[in-house]
Amino acid sequence: MNPHAAEMLEELFALAHWCAAKGWVPATSGNFSVADSNRNILISRSGFDKSRMEREDLVALDSGGSVFPGSTQKPSAESSLHAIIYRKRPEAHAIAHVHTIWNTLLSERFVVTGHVDIAGYELLKALSDVQSHAHHERVPVIANSQDYHTLARELEEVLADNPTAHGVLLSGHGLYTWGRSVAETRRHLEALEFLFEVEGRKLFGYPD
Ligand SMILES: [Zn+2]
Repeated sequence: MNPHAAEMLEELFALAHWCAAKGWVPATSGNFSVADSNRNILISRSGFDKSRMEREDLVALDSGGSVFPGSTQKPSAESSLHAIIYRKRPEAHAIAHVHTIWNTLLSERFVVTGHVDIAGYELLKALSDVQSHAHHERVPVIANSQDYHTLARELEEVLADNPTAHGVLLSGHGLYTWGRSVAETRRHLEALEFLFEVEGRKLFGYPD
């Protein structure tokens, strides 16, 4: 990792703990990673309570998403999706994946059209390179599958087709978002989840 790796990992753990406290990674779901400029990845291991995430819970992967020989830990089942994101978004150095109520509801509602469109909100400016509330953010939605090869291929396509997207939804499953740093990834995550909740409440009319 880069010279700031230790600090970056502390930020990653804090992000995982914060997501757990918010109920965004229920029942051992979700995963988190960081990558260096050579796209070597450190990712959370498979299935554990993210409120306790620490250094021993990380698994090293090469740029293709394969575990380095000698690792005794099993990486997240979704490692191939992290590897695709790092490949298609060379500026990204951190990824968060969460299963929230609002991203689950909206992804199911919009899987038919293939995207969630969000425009007109001040908080859109929390997304990198967005200057105005008038920005139109299109979040692609992919149909969920347990076949991670298919998912990886579809993810690669939507990332290529939507070069300015800040996140991708898997239908009935969750959100992937990324950033140039852990801090930027956290800002994107918080902004997108806020926007999903606003859109969701407007659409479904939930009182609170
Ligand atoms: Zn997941």
